[in-house]
Amino acid sequence: MSKWLKKDSYEMFADKKSKEVEKNSAAVGGGGFYKKWKNPQMGTTEKAKEYKVRLLPDVESGFYKDYLYHGFMSGEIFHYFLCEKSFGMDHFCPWCEATKMLYQGNESDKRKANDYKRKQRFVSNIFIAEDPRDVEVKDDKYKVGGTLRLYEFPATVESKIKNEITDTDQGYGMSIFEPESGYDFILKVKAKPKDKNGKEWPDYGDSMFARRPSPIADTEDDIEKLMGERVNLDEYIKSLKLSMEDHEKLLKAEMLWDDIGNTFDKIWKGKTTPTIDPVAALEETVVQPESTRTQIGNDIGQETPNDETSTISVDETDALLEELQDL
Ligand SMILES: [Zn+2]
Repeated sequence: MSKWLKKDSYEMFADKKSKEVEKNSAAVGGGGFYKKWKNPQMGTTEKAKEYKVRLLPDVESGFYKDYLYHGFMSGEIFHYFLCEKSFGMDHFCPWCEATKMLYQGNESDKRKANDYKRKQRFVSNIFIAEDPRDVEVKDDKYKVGGTLRLYEFPATVESKIKNEITDTDQGYGMSIFEPESGYDFILKVKAKPKDKNGKEWPDYGDSMFARRPSPIADTEDDIEKLMGERVNLDEYIKSLKLSMEDHEKLLKAEMLWDDIGNTFDKIWKGKTTPTIDPVAALEETVVQPESTRTQIGNDIGQETPNDETSTISVDETDALLEELQDL
């Protein structure tokens, strides 16, 4: 292994990934001036579109990272932002509170809850070895092949990568992040047969890693230069945060302020409780007159109880999100 990879850091990462295999993690938000890779488009149900990328380690420590987000339409605008629970399940997130509350309501509340609920997404620095869309790009300076970008991907893609890490017998392990002699990730994107609404969703099932290792550039200097363009993923993720004022505006626009505003003020603005412990603060707010409302904060750290009732899968939400972001 070259100097680009830290063995200790990788072992911790691989260990975390193998623990996650047992736990089925669910759902996830953003903006900024970061250079992102345009989401790979799908081919047909028969023929996949193929993209070749190299996953790269994060700048300071770690590899790719995951975060939680909320993404939904409010009026005509699609909002996409970081869920505060990305920093720990004990953190207060007004949208997760709203989701929990709406799941207890009627059918239309439940549908709303589905829109608001948090979902999970992954992000990595990647080197793009091949993007078939470059063929249609006339001006060389707009081609993405040979450049570094941020790639955000859904859980279905991550499971392919995770496999390579957790399969200690057959997987390439740390070499999938190696810029000098690592293995490209070959994304093969087919289309799933149309769903009942006539919509097509991407199918990443055939994606795999290259059989042969290769360097991302021919000389050490060029590799050095490319590696220097990596983005600090924690900083990127933080850039997806919504300001307190914007949270408040959006909660009001979505008619959720009457229900969530009190807790919001208490915890984030410290109006009545200058307490440091957000969990304790939450528990104080459970005095709610309506018996139909479940206690806010009684199941902190757990998934939304009625998540299974969702009619739309996390992958579909992800695909939809990508579609909207491409607009
Ligand atoms: Zn949230």
